[in-house]
Amino acid sequence: MTSLVTPQAWTAPQVTGELPGPRSAELLARQQRRESNARTYPRHLPIALEEGFGSFVRDADGNVFIDFLSGAGVLSLGHNHPALVRAVTEQLSRLTHGLDFPTPVKDAFTEAQLSMLPEHLQDRMKVHFCGPTGANAVEAAIKLCKTATGRGEIVSFQGGFHGSSHATMAVSGLVAQKRPVAHGMPGVHFFPYSYCGRCPVGLSPDDCATNCVALLERSLRDANGGVPLPAAVVMELVQGEGGVIPARMDFVRRVRELTLELGIPLIVDEVQTGCGRTGTWFAFEQYGIDPDVIVASKALSGIGTPVALILYDSRLDTWAPGAHIGTFRGNQLAFAAGVAAVRVVREQDVLGNVRRRGEQVRDRLDRLTSQPWVREVRGRGLLWGVELADPDTGAPASRLAAAVQAQALRRGLITELGGRQDGVVRLLPPLNVTAEVVDTGCSILVDSVTAAVART
Ligand code: PMP
Repeated sequence: MTSLVTPQAWTAPQVTGELPGPRSAELLARQQRRESNARTYPRHLPIALEEGFGSFVRDADGNVFIDFLSGAGVLSLGHNHPALVRAVTEQLSRLTHGLDFPTPVKDAFTEAQLSMLPEHLQDRMKVHFCGPTGANAVEAAIKLCKTATGRGEIVSFQGGFHGSSHATMAVSGLVAQKRPVAHGMPGVHFFPYSYCGRCPVGLSPDDCATNCVALLERSLRDANGGVPLPAAVVMELVQGEGGVIPARMDFVRRVRELTLELGIPLIVDEVQTGCGRTGTWFAFEQYGIDPDVIVASKALSGIGTPVALILYDSRLDTWAPGAHIGTFRGNQLAFAAGVAAVRVVREQDVLGNVRRRGEQVRDRLDRLTSQPWVREVRGRGLLWGVELADPDTGAPASRLAAAVQAQALRRGLITELGGRQDGVVRLLPPLNVTAEVVDTGCSILVDSVTAAVART
């Protein structure tokens, strides 16, 4: 079904009738019959997507939604940004796939990515193009650090998420995903993350001495601590799927100091936080640390043409030719879009917009904390989470979060769930979202929380 107005003229959500509408219901039913039981998003968001523009997406029945899921953070400049569409279209008739041969557009993309690093890292880092998923790039980072150090253990953090392949499941906290798959990658050691809303060592914020990181420090320094010197420590700076948990400044700094002192490469997984999501190009810049390996993927092209890479300290470049290969490492359409995306981010001060709109989200959602079922509202830049929990027991309020998501959808806002038992409602708006759309989206979310709480 086509909408009455052109996508360019969409300014507000519009949902009529029940969800899913008849055409969406038909497509969802066909999908259910033919696709695997592992499908996820349409279970909570029962719509079929047909067309998108900017911060809006239209379903197959003509309903228009504000899209604060943004393809799980992939569509950093919204749906179908005209400059990116132009770049992809021009590239399409020139060259689409180039394995790992150099090409002019790949060179421009590499140049653009390196230019977004802090200046002192630009000459220090090398790039490796990976298979085009975040998980494949995390795999590459782990393999690189194992090769460079000759060690086998990996330290990771509780609540983190790094992908769905064997090795990335092994370094992720999500037990339900790895439990049914025997013989994951061995040698992974989990330590607590600085999740102050639910302190992993059971302290109140007043007593905090960042004891979470002290556990890691003591274990790695203890000759009887049970953990051999690891090949790498892998961490997110804001745990995204884990429920939007920004790491404390002193936590990250101490992890960096420790890993430098012990000679352990630090991998920062910026698959979700990277490319401007938190208000700087990479989140690590806000912590004043230099990682050894940076993993990036989702928003690198800005328009969903897949690409993934690692940027790493050239000291680690111990790989033999072919050490991490893969057919789909030369998506020229992604490179063309990525060059255009960096240009748009620079020319239109998109990072400034992320910071300003992030403040706006904070101001608008802060009032929610007076609701007893809202445990915390937290975020960085345009990555936000509203954690819902039973006020009596503190248990994650999964059913309430699902109800909020459903209410929001009904009112025209697409959100995401995450965190322990999916008790956190997450927002990932496009980075160039306008103040008006943020205002409308936040109003819908506040109304949805109020309505869903009233029914508990
Ligand atoms: N790392 C992080 C931090 C992520 O958020 C994700 C995906 N949500 C991944 C890795 C895995 O990326 P992909 O789904 O592209 O494999």
